[in-house]
Amino acid sequence: MTDDNSAKPQLDSLITFSHIVNLFQTLEKKKGKKQDVLIGFHQFWKKRDKHSQTYPYIRLLCPSSDRERNTYGLKELTLAKSSSVGSFSNSLYDILSNRCVVQHGTITISDVNKKLDELCLNQERESQEEVLRYFYMNCTAEEQKWIVRIILKDLKIGISADTVLTHYHPDALEQFNVTNDLKKVAVELMDYDVRVPAPQISLFNAFTPMLSQKTSIDDVLKAMKGNTFWVETKLDGERIQMHKDGSNYQWFSRKSHSYTYLYGSHESEGALCNLIHKSFRNEVKNCILDGEMLALNTETGRFLPFGNLKTAALDAKANGLNAKLRPFFRVFDCLFLNGKCIMESPLEKRYGFMLKIFEPQKNIFDVVPHAEGNTVEDVIRLLDESMLKLEEGIIIKNPLSLYKPSSRGEDWLKLKADYMDSIGDNLDLLIVGGSWGEGRRGGKLSNFLLAVFDEDRKKFISVGKCGSGYNYQELDEILRVTEGKWKPYNAKNPPSWLIHDYDNKNREKPGIPILKLTEKLFSLKDMVISPEHSKIVEVLCAEIVVTDMYECNFTLRFPRFVKLREDKGPDDCLTFLQLKEIIRHTRGK
Ligand code: ATP
Repeated sequence: MTDDNSAKPQLDSLITFSHIVNLFQTLEKKKGKKQDVLIGFHQFWKKRDKHSQTYPYIRLLCPSSDRERNTYGLKELTLAKSSSVGSFSNSLYDILSNRCVVQHGTITISDVNKKLDELCLNQERESQEEVLRYFYMNCTAEEQKWIVRIILKDLKIGISADTVLTHYHPDALEQFNVTNDLKKVAVELMDYDVRVPAPQISLFNAFTPMLSQKTSIDDVLKAMKGNTFWVETKLDGERIQMHKDGSNYQWFSRKSHSYTYLYGSHESEGALCNLIHKSFRNEVKNCILDGEMLALNTETGRFLPFGNLKTAALDAKANGLNAKLRPFFRVFDCLFLNGKCIMESPLEKRYGFMLKIFEPQKNIFDVVPHAEGNTVEDVIRLLDESMLKLEEGIIIKNPLSLYKPSSRGEDWLKLKADYMDSIGDNLDLLIVGGSWGEGRRGGKLSNFLLAVFDEDRKKFISVGKCGSGYNYQELDEILRVTEGKWKPYNAKNPPSWLIHDYDNKNREKPGIPILKLTEKLFSLKDMVISPEHSKIVEVLCAEIVVTDMYECNFTLRFPRFVKLREDKGPDDCLTFLQLKEIIRHTRGK
């Protein structure tokens, strides 16, 4: 702000909050063409005073993008949000409108911002109550309803923050996604007609990371433009970027929330800094790494759902290497190195840097490996393998791609079995064997050999394996109802009720021979369970394909567990004849 400017009264201290409430109401009620109202509003502010700061109203219009007021720590309101922002703030309005003392709003936009800043900066209960009392005493019921929505960061007006920015200036959204600085965007992009150069990421400024687009198997090759592609595991944690400058660190989530208080701001502290600092090579002065943070249970080797990350970080912070739970940072990109932004180098080059800048530490800090592929068969094989490893899916990347913050283009694709259509029929199959899980399901049977009943031979014959589609509770339920009934598989004396032909070298074992085995898993044996003790599971699959890996000579492509059928017994198992009938119906699909 210039001196000249500061001498003038600012627009936000002249214009009442009711003005913006009118805008909210209009947008909420208007069906279609909402952007015209928004554009008119932007123009109003920009025209009224060329030097006015638009930031005060923009931040009220985009509360979810306001990084200066990240959280209010108002538990009561957050809890209320879980009911539904709209209904909560509406019922609040109903209550307040009967009691409210203020009938005409005089509070200005500047007053609201000041009070919201106070609410955020001082989260002591008393001072927060004082601010809320202020709103109660000075705002109409309608205004209070909107203040609640601003605090909950969800206006429910049918227009997103992205749209607000897009209509503010053609470069605003891109600038915001890279800088995450709403004030800078509002102030520097006042003039709609003056374009600005593409923004660059910089140290200790969070940016919105590059995202992956959903794909289907058939679309992968086209998107990869005929190039060899890379396939990485789709890690199931929280997206985190790490900024490092010497021995100082900062960590940010995908929405640019800082997690530095958890993972550490300095080499000597935090759940990770103190462990990983020594991993970096001396030549690395500064860098920005993009990756996924996982919560690892070091005792079971299981990864926990990402809601456990905070607990894991606090445990690691308190107990260092002895912690039971620990965050594990897996890096898949490097965007800034020794003073230079390298987003515009191809992925394969950035990956090369990643391998050189630090020494991996097992289960603490490493680089996500990738497999290479060229064909549709490669995609199918790699997705199959990932499902058997009980992973969420795969991410396919073009090694020649540049890093584009916040973009969701064709260079990074995500593929999960869930995205695929399935054959119409769910199949009731009998669990006949089990193998030991890796990773987050490590140490438990979790990958099941399934069978159909062959009426001619009067035996169960193997048809496939399923290790995907269930959650922990469902898996634990299967294990609970079969507990104590599993027997190690004995190749010399295979069970009389099952035909799987283990000696056939092409045959899939109930165990995990096609997976990369860890030392621990090598010592464990495949297990079988006899029909009278076993359970029927309902399974769906993308298609049924020919194979010699199972006795049926057919198998299920991308099988997913639907539910345990406690109400059914081995007699209700799908028969080989019925399976062939389904194949005929669906012609393999
Ligand atoms: P999206 O993040 O695409 O909006 P979403 O929140 O539902 O969708 P998913 O579809 O489950 O998330 O997965 C996308 C997420 O996958 C990314 O945000 C990223 O954190 C994560 N991810 C996991 N592994 C990788 C990887 N190897 N490379 C890039 N991203 C990965």
